[in-house]
Order: sequence, then structure tokens, then C-alpha cells
Amino acid sequence: CGIVGYIGDEQATPILLEGLKKLEYRGYDSAGIAVLRDGNIEIKKSKGRISVLEEAIKKDDLIGSVGIGHTRWATHGEPSDNNSHPHLSQSGIIAVVHNGIIENYQPLKKLLVQEGYKFKSETDTEVIANLMEYYYKGDIVETVEKVLDRIEGSYALGVLSKDCPDMIIAAKKDAPLIVGLGKGENFIASDVPAILKHTRDVYFLDDKEIAIIKKDSVKIIDIFGREIKKSVYKVKWDV
Ligand code: GLU
Repeated sequence: CGIVGYIGDEQATPILLEGLKKLEYRGYDSAGIAVLRDGNIEIKKSKGRISVLEEAIKKDDLIGSVGIGHTRWATHGEPSDNNSHPHLSQSGIIAVVHNGIIENYQPLKKLLVQEGYKFKSETDTEVIANLMEYYYKGDIVETVEKVLDRIEGSYALGVLSKDCPDMIIAAKKDAPLIVGLGKGENFIASDVPAILKHTRDVYFLDDKEIAIIKKDSVKIIDIFGREIKKSVYKVKWDV
């Protein structure tokens, strides 16, 4: 399973597909991509190999320069198109990719169902997307902080929001996630090989750190919003 993300001036989809292929060694049963396009989140996802996803993406699909991609190793819900990531929140304002397991997704799902949320998948991940929408009052970073405070378990997360087309948010706990630093472009990935073609400068995120990634900047904060200074790691090896 794996995560990649891109924000910059290039088309995101080819970069994401290529990154996902480099993460194939981690194992997966489905794959998907979400891209911000003209103020909306467009998603393609499918059960099976990355080549299946690639074929499903037509020439004028997923056009945009901000996106997140995912390979899934199913833990909650069988491998299927519906259960594949990215998962959209109910009204389509937030998209989430997730590796790991949310241990307390059942009580959270119950609460959200009581609040009127309808779920389209059997995954623990869709709970994160809808919990974000539930807490969202206009500040997506604050929303992520709140959600991380509520969820238990393991996660590497990539988040896109329709209201903030200039950023990707990433966070992790007990699952790997790195930020790749480029010039006028930045990346997230589960592992270095996925982005090595584009940059050798990376941040290794630590547990419960949140990365706010824009085209020209990366800011790391804790779940209380306090900024964390990280040092850049220079990758010296090749794949
Ligand atoms: N628990 C999530 C799911 O089953 C994520 C699995 C993964 O790590 O790929 O959809």
C-alpha cells in the first residue's frame, strides 16, 4: 500500500501514476487518484493493478496540477472499486487517501450516521473523510488537527480540499510518510523511490505531525497548530 501527492505546475496525474508504480513493491489490491480540477475534486479509482487504473483514465480526465494517489491493501471492506481510495466526504468537499487502520472507526461512524451522513464504502477511511466534513467550519488545517485528535490507530494521510486548491495536507502516525521538496513543486510519498526522480530533499514526518504543503512552501505543525522545525534530509542513494 502507498500514498503519493503532488502540487506544482506540472500535470499531477502522470507524476502520481509513476510514483504509485514505484510503490508497487509494498503490495496492493486497488489504486486511485484524486485531482483538483476547476474548483472540484475529480476521482478515478479501481480494483486491480495500476495498469487497470491507467487504462480507465481517458486523455481529458484528471486534468490538474494538485493531486493525491493511493494503492490500497484492504483491511476494512473487500477490494472493490467503491472501497478503493481516494474517499470523498459526503458533499464532495474533502478527499482523503489513507494507509493504516482506524481502530475506533465504528463509534465514529455511528455518530456520523446519527448526524445524517450516508456512507458509500465499508472502509474505515471514509469515516475520516466524513469526520473532516463534520468538523469543517472553513479552516481545513484546524479540521485536520481536530480529526487527528479523535481518531485512534495507524495512518498515513493525504488530504485535498475543494476550498483550498493551493494546498495538500499530510499527516502520519505509525505508518511512513515523507515530504519531497522541489522548486515550485512539492510532493508527499510513503517512501523515497516514489519521488526520487523529482527531488532528493525530503522531510521524514514524525508521528502526529501535520504537513501543510503548497507549491512554494511546506510548513510542519503539531496537532495544536504549533510550528515544528524539521531538518531536510538529502537522499544520497539511488534505486
Ligand atoms: N484501512 C484502509 C482500507 O481498508 C486502508 C488500507 C491501506 O493501508 O491501504 O481501506
